[in-house]
Amino acid sequence: MTNISESQIREIVKKILTENENGKAKWSATEYNGRKFIGIFSDMNEAIDAAERGYKAVRNMTVEQREKIITEIRRLTRENAEILGRLGVEETGMGNPEHKRLKHILVADKTPGTEDIVSEAKTGDGGLTLTEMAPFGVVGAITPSTNPSETVICNSIGMIAAGNGVVFNPHPNAIATSNYAVDLVNRASKAAGGPEILVCSMDEPTMDSAKIMQTHPKIKLLVCTGGPGVVKAVLSSGKKAIGAGAGNPPVIVDDTADIQKAGKDIIDGCCFDNNLPCIAEKEVFAFDNIADELIAAMKKNGAYMINSEQADRLAGIVLVEKTSKSGAKVKTVSRECVGRDASVLLSKIGITVGKEIRCIICETGFMHDFVQYELMMPILPIVRVKNIDEAIDLAVKAEHGNRHTAHMHSKNIDNLSAFAKAVETTIFVKNAPSYAGIGFGGEGHTTFTIAGPTGEGITSARSYTRKRRCVMSDSFRII
Ligand code: NAD
Repeated sequence: MTNISESQIREIVKKILTENENGKAKWSATEYNGRKFIGIFSDMNEAIDAAERGYKAVRNMTVEQREKIITEIRRLTRENAEILGRLGVEETGMGNPEHKRLKHILVADKTPGTEDIVSEAKTGDGGLTLTEMAPFGVVGAITPSTNPSETVICNSIGMIAAGNGVVFNPHPNAIATSNYAVDLVNRASKAAGGPEILVCSMDEPTMDSAKIMQTHPKIKLLVCTGGPGVVKAVLSSGKKAIGAGAGNPPVIVDDTADIQKAGKDIIDGCCFDNNLPCIAEKEVFAFDNIADELIAAMKKNGAYMINSEQADRLAGIVLVEKTSKSGAKVKTVSRECVGRDASVLLSKIGITVGKEIRCIICETGFMHDFVQYELMMPILPIVRVKNIDEAIDLAVKAEHGNRHTAHMHSKNIDNLSAFAKAVETTIFVKNAPSYAGIGFGGEGHTTFTIAGPTGEGITSARSYTRKRRCVMSDSFRII
């Protein structure tokens, strides 16, 4: 008979409790390793009613109490960042667990809280007029598969700071990860003295549950983070809506740039979470006279160059043709390829590389699918241009009028200004990786809901408020 120590028994018990037969954590839309998620419903109407109770509880809190809950959300987010990073990749098959962990830390550290809500006072001969940022009530939020828990936590912090209740209809492909985040927010609420259910979600979110949310009289604001289809749907709902939609961020590199730094920055930004962030570099327009040096710098930083025949073959795999509702054939990105490692994508065209390869680069013409489609994969086409006019013209066209994000590496302030003005994006990053635009290595707060179409921009608590005015006529001046 073998002797087993107490610590070994504890290890075995822990393993049985936390791992399934594949050695991985057990999870579903409603639980993680046996821990039941709080705030998850099967019926959207019930979820909205619960979110309304959460809203009423928040309304009765002081700002200090709300901030206590937010502090606890930040703490739990840091504590759970690694699990959420792993779970996000395991569930969706997309992204990089370490980068996802860093995204959660960013959300915990740089999402503004109640300090973002600022009142305004105007005084004059007529007295005092006060303008306050009030909550909307219950917010209905639709979240993506690409940054699932990051968006749920970031939205929750901002919406709670503003005094709202929230109900989520998360992406079905990331439901366990999203609901883990909903549960985290509710646990933080309870631990900080708030209601047990502050934010709510669905166990099986569908288009129908989204529709109920979009038309329900108790939902006063819709916030949608996702592709063009869903943004259009919420903007047609007849309710106040914040839409954070698709991008296809171009990068221009001119011949005044620090080319070595540009090569590294572009690859770092493009490969972050396997290119899932909507702000990540998607195509490069490089001056002809520095393109070779730029490509060499990219190769030094983990890029693998494929030729045009290989690029066409890969395009035939990562983009697939589907038939739309109207019967038309439309090309769309393959969900099997979005957010996958460069080595996995290369293996699809028979190329084997090691983990040191982070990105696939290739030279293409402007009309190539790699330039025109928002791939959300570590594939970066490079188009040679003669001068700044051609670079700006093509980069603006490649951005497709999303007015989302653009990047430039240059030391020529005229060129930088000319592109910034022409492209009209919500975010414009100069001489840095794309993620500097959401506060990662750059100044400013973070968000995972970048609302270009509706103009809120880098959303924060104040985006989820409505202004209310109180007038005290002829009084309350102190001078
Ligand atoms: P997606 O558009 O497939 O899904 C987003 C959400 O909308 C999901 O919850 C989905 O179930 C739901 N949905 C889709 N169509 C709908 C409809 N007609 N009515 C109601 N709900 C609907 O998004 P995804 O693939 O997970 O995310 C990637 C896309 O989102 C990219 O285009 C990316 O650029 C964009 N995105 C934008 C931002 C931003 O801040 N602007 C952030 C993240 C992602």
